[in-house]
Amino acid sequence: EPASSHSRQMKPPLLVSRLYQPSNLRDMGPDSRMQGELTCKSQRLMQQAGLIHPFNPGCFYYLPATVRAMEKLVRVIDQEMQQIGGQKLDMPSLCSADLWQISQRWDLMGKELFRLKDRHGVNYCLGPTHEEAVTHLVAHQTALSYKQLPLLLYQITRKFRDEPKPRFGLLRGREFYMKDMYSFDVSEEAAYETYESVCHAYTRIFARLGLRCVQVQADTGNIGGKLSHEFQLPADIGEDRLLVCRSCSFSANVETMLSDRTDCPQCKTGTLSESKGIEVGHTFYLGKKYSDMFNAVFSNAQNKQSVAEMGCYGLGVTRILAAAIEVMSTDESIRWPGLLAPYQVCVLPPKKGSKADEATGLAEDFVHTLGQTVPHLRGEIVFDDRTQMTIGKRLKDASRLGYPYVVVVGQGALEDTPRFEVICQQTDETMFLSKEDLFCLL
Ligand code: ATP
Ligand code: MG
Ligand code: MG
Ligand code: MG
Repeated sequence: EPASSHSRQMKPPLLVSRLYQPSNLRDMGPDSRMQGELTCKSQRLMQQAGLIHPFNPGCFYYLPATVRAMEKLVRVIDQEMQQIGGQKLDMPSLCSADLWQISQRWDLMGKELFRLKDRHGVNYCLGPTHEEAVTHLVAHQTALSYKQLPLLLYQITRKFRDEPKPRFGLLRGREFYMKDMYSFDVSEEAAYETYESVCHAYTRIFARLGLRCVQVQADTGNIGGKLSHEFQLPADIGEDRLLVCRSCSFSANVETMLSDRTDCPQCKTGTLSESKGIEVGHTFYLGKKYSDMFNAVFSNAQNKQSVAEMGCYGLGVTRILAAAIEVMSTDESIRWPGLLAPYQVCVLPPKKGSKADEATGLAEDFVHTLGQTVPHLRGEIVFDDRTQMTIGKRLKDASRLGYPYVVVVGQGALEDTPRFEVICQQTDETMFLSKEDLFCLL
């Protein structure tokens, strides 16, 4: 078969030498040393691996591998939000002050709100969240009928908050990605049902990622409303304190407790254990707080105007990435939830001039057939073509970046019954498999 027709069908694998990872294998540089006391494991590992690069306090370049991981996370979130009827939209980040004055949050948000003026001297803020904007939108829809409810609108966009202490990399940025969903319902009962279904969707998202999250009762803060839960990932670096009952299902953020008590307010007999958590999601039942203010109404079954019952639901998209790395990684190496790893497989051909040099062709062949035979790996395989480096050095890099699978094509591939070495980095297992068995595993 002529080479040209062949190569047209096969996309070349991604070459490590071509990947853009500016900080990879280099010292973290003066930028990060300056913020030395602010770093944590995920920030250190992400900067070392060339996943993020600091720009200014609380703002980072999200480098290509991070964007891939984010796109994968967004896909999971989209699936689960759409599964419960969510419709995706995208609202402006530039929000005019008048809406924020109606809700009084122009003053309540204080210094956390990034404020600016346009050329006419009109006040704006950069959206830290979008209750005002979305309720304004729905209020402008004429003839919204009860038949269209529940209405679940969500977006995945950048949010801006002038945090007093931006730190810990993507865990607390001043500019970050959030998924925010807003629900509109016909009644309090219906709104509670929606609230429950969103909580279940969140639980499914974290389960799919392999993250053990706890759902705790939470404060409603300045968003307001009646009922609220946080999804917390237990971790020492977490800035929230959680109380979980040892005997019953009670769990709460300390912020909700009047006194810090040690006996359970629910079962009265159990004792509460305290731990720290990273808040990765937050759900609120809002009632009519915003819909009353902005007059978000629908026509009910009796054809009368009625004010919608609302809920809002946030997920910290970039925070989840960093939090997953924080809790899953070792001190030296990033470990990803399998679904989010930027690339699934890294293939290492032998070192140039080594005894196994002849296996180089086999390694290239292996990559091409793997991409063709295992469809879900298309575009997910990286070929570490830095063959002037020893296998050991390249293995170290691969471990640091956390590809779920690393395949070494060496001496074993040249033997009568060819064997490929595969390292499953999530479980730390090493196996020597035939090509067929390896394709099944991957
Ligand atoms: P925190 O208590 O950590 O400041 P928050 O309660 O102010 O968070 P919410 O208003 O509930 O945050 O926003 C919804 C979600 O957005 C949070 O659960 C979190 O996952 C994410 N988030 C909030 N602030 C940040 C930030 N500065 N950087 C990254 N993610 C954030
Ligand atoms: Mg906050
Ligand atoms: Mg909070
Ligand atoms: Mg919160």
